[in-house]
Amino acid sequence: MRHLATIAKIEELKNIPGADKIEAARVKGWWVVVMKDQFKIDDFVLYFEIDSFLPVKPEYDFLLKGNKLKKMLSEGKEVEGIRLRTIKLRGTVSQGLILPLTILNNYGNLEKIKDDWYLTLSKQKNMEKIKLEIGLDISNILGIIKYEQPVSPCLSGIVKGAFPSFLPKTDEERIQNMAEVLDSYYMTEKLDGSSVTYYKKDGVFGVCSRNLELQEGETTQWKIARELNLKEKLYDNFAIQGEIVGEGIQKNPYKIRGQKVFFFNVYNIKFGKFLEFEDFKGMCDSLRLETVPILDENFSLPKNVDEMLEIAIGKSMLNSECEREGVVARKKSHIGNERNSFKAISNNYLLNE
Ligand code: ATP
Ligand code: MN
Repeated sequence: MRHLATIAKIEELKNIPGADKIEAARVKGWWVVVMKDQFKIDDFVLYFEIDSFLPVKPEYDFLLKGNKLKKMLSEGKEVEGIRLRTIKLRGTVSQGLILPLTILNNYGNLEKIKDDWYLTLSKQKNMEKIKLEIGLDISNILGIIKYEQPVSPCLSGIVKGAFPSFLPKTDEERIQNMAEVLDSYYMTEKLDGSSVTYYKKDGVFGVCSRNLELQEGETTQWKIARELNLKEKLYDNFAIQGEIVGEGIQKNPYKIRGQKVFFFNVYNIKFGKFLEFEDFKGMCDSLRLETVPILDENFSLPKNVDEMLEIAIGKSMLNSECEREGVVARKKSHIGNERNSFKAISNNYLLNE
């Protein structure tokens, strides 16, 4: 199902050469021509995708200038409305419609509490308050349906029943709605040490080696926890995972004195999710914890595995005289629940080993 009308955020504004009353605004990957100075970057707005079929309502009247009402069959009934399509204004492609959030006052009680917007639907008996989060589909609230072309008579025939529930229908998502697939990766140095996990769950602090939880004591993991004051510092219901390197760990390839930890994961226990790159980095910074060396914050994947293995080869950021073990490349933002992460181990390192 397409999310035709959603809560969105103005992400970019662009001048249209030679036009002083209009400008182009971007939400997700869509560019829409809007009135100049009507919106600011980061404004919460309503976004209607192309192919939206809008009901006849005063808030859409301005669209009817030079535009005819369209008729369409919906669930066997003929309905009238406005079809949104791709247009060009002053030479600029405009796809869809951006309206201010205040339109929602026609449908319920719109209010801002701290930085968040809420809508309480007037017609609902239980008066549920909905938080207007980015991506929230409001097509139902606004009565927006998808414009469908009439089916060619030679294809319609006599209906036998609904589409079989045991089969998937065909469909593809538009790239404008999933800009994150093009988002770049970030690349960190893979450190050759021993993995450690520190967590705080409902106020209780814990320390784990790669595979086991450790009783408090004189292990390196616990010593580091005390040095870094992690029991006090760590936010509740978060875990951080890192690599301990140094004396006594593996063969101490980086020839480090003492032991140190470098973090590569922050995990939100309540949500069951790893933080995305910017949040991960932000949290490590605010806790003053060191991350694994970040080699590239905007890494584009090479064409093939061989090229990736070439990139893996290099000196370590911990000691420029040592070969690094390799690199880890990860998507900066998650797609669905996927973190999209892989390691490339340096063949030079493997040959030296
Ligand atoms: P193998 O899978 O080859 O048997 P392994 O499971 O012991 O080896 P790897 O899979 O090679 O270890 O590497 C994954 C580990 O790398 C993680 O568990 C983590 O401890 C460590 N690591 C070191 N540096 C990083 C980094 N920059 N990003 C993510 N993980 C890292
Ligand atoms: Mn592994």
